[in-house]
Amino acid sequence: MDTLDEQLARIRSGDLKLYALEKLMPADTAVSLRRKYVEVETRADLSAVGTYSIPIDRVVLRNIENMVGCVQIPVGVAGPLAVRGEFADGTFWLPLATTEGALVASVNRGCGAITWAGGADVRILRDGMTRAPVFAADSVVHAVNAARWAEDNLLLLKRAAEETTHYGELTGLTTYVVGTNLFVRFLFDTKDAMGMNMATIASEAAARLIEEETGARMVSVSGNMCCDKKPSAINVIEGRGKSVAAGVFLPDDLVRAAFKTDAKTLAEVNTRKNLVGSARAASFGFNAQAANVVAAMFLACGQDPAHVVEGSNAITTVDEVPGGAYVSVSLPSLQVGTVGGGTGIATQRACLSMLGVAGGGKNPGDHAKAFAEIAAAAVLAGELSLLGALGAQHLIKAHQMLGRGAGV
Ligand code: NAP
Repeated sequence: MDTLDEQLARIRSGDLKLYALEKLMPADTAVSLRRKYVEVETRADLSAVGTYSIPIDRVVLRNIENMVGCVQIPVGVAGPLAVRGEFADGTFWLPLATTEGALVASVNRGCGAITWAGGADVRILRDGMTRAPVFAADSVVHAVNAARWAEDNLLLLKRAAEETTHYGELTGLTTYVVGTNLFVRFLFDTKDAMGMNMATIASEAAARLIEEETGARMVSVSGNMCCDKKPSAINVIEGRGKSVAAGVFLPDDLVRAAFKTDAKTLAEVNTRKNLVGSARAASFGFNAQAANVVAAMFLACGQDPAHVVEGSNAITTVDEVPGGAYVSVSLPSLQVGTVGGGTGIATQRACLSMLGVAGGGKNPGDHAKAFAEIAAAAVLAGELSLLGALGAQHLIKAHQMLGRGAGV
C-alpha cells in the first residue's frame, strides 16, 4: 500500500489519474486523496470543503466528477404557506438555500400574508420538456419535406422515442426551417423527472428515425431551439417544463397590516417597475425577484441550478380591485423534478420531503407537479413581499438590518 506522499507523487506523475481515483478506492477515500492533492497544488486549506454529511457513493457516479468535497449553503425555512393547487393542497414549509441575507425573511413575510388571505390559488397551464435536434438538409425543399415527414409521423417517432424510457412520453413536436436547417422541437411528458436526460436520449432515437426516413442529417441532438439554459423568447412564449400561474386576493386591511402600504401603491410599483421598467430593459423577467426564490428552492431541493435562467421568466401582475389587490405570478418555464438529477442526494431529498414530494408520486408526475405549484406560490410570496417593501419604502432598511448583518 502506498503512503499518502507516494500516492500524491503518483498523481503528479500521471501514473494515477486524478479523475479515476474512485475506480481504485472507496469514494470517500478517493475524494479525500483528491482534495489533499489539490490542497498541495493550490496551497489552499480545503478542510471546510471536506466536511460534509451526505453519502457520496452514488453522488460520485451520477452527480459530479473529480469531487473534492461539498460547498455548504445555509437552508432556512419560510412559512407556513397555504397553497391551493390541484396537486399541492395544504400548508407548506419552504426550504430555501441561500446566502442572501433578508431573502428568507422576505419570503416568510409574503407567506404570512398569503396564508392569512386563505392561500394562493395555483394552476399548471402546460407541462412538457423540450429537446430540439438540428438537421442539415440539402435545400430548402428538402428541409421542408423532412419537416412534413416528421409532422406526419408523430406516432412512429413516439414509438422510437418511448423505447428508450419507461416513464417518458413524446406528446408532440413543432418544426422550424431556416434555409437548409431543420429544427424539430420535441415535447415530452417526463412525469416526476425534470427530464432533460430522459428527453435527450429519447430525442436522439426519434431524430435517428427522421434521419433514416428523410436523409436530413442530424448535426446535433440539441439545436438550441430547445432552449436549454439560455434566455430565450421561445420558452417564454411556448413554455418549457411546467407553465404555472399563482394568484391571491389580499383585502385592504391585510395589505396595510402586512406591508404598511395600500393596494394602489402595490399596483403602481408593479406597473412602473415590473412592467414598464422591465419592458424598457427588454427583460424576459417582468418581476421583482422571482430568480431569488426559484434559485433558493432549486438549490435546497436538488434541481438543476442552471434552470434558474428559464425559471425566472415570470410576469407579476397587481390588479387594484374593490376592497383590495389581486396579485399574481405566471411562470412559463419552470423546470422541476422530484426524481433524478440532484433530487436523490440526502440533504436535497430531505428538503423535498419537507414538502411531501420526495421521489416519484403515486401517480407518476404528481409529485413534480405539486412541487411546481408550491414553487410558484413561493415566488408569489417573494413578489408580494418585495413589492410591499418597495411600496412602503422599507427595502433598504430591511437589507441594512438583515443582509448587512446586525451584530456581524
Ligand atoms: P435522470 O436522473 O437522468 O433520470 C431520471 C430517470 O428516473 C428517468 O429517466 C426514469 O427512467 C426514472 N424514473 C423513475 N421514476 C420516475 C418517475 N416517477 N417519473 C419519471 N421518471 C422516473 O433525470 P432527468 O430528469 O432525465 O435529467 C435530469 C438531469 O439532467 C440533471 O442532472 C440535469 O443536470 C441533467 N441535464 C442534462 C442535460 C442533457 O442534455 N442531457 C441538459 C440539462 C440538464 P426511465 O427513463 O427509464 O423511465
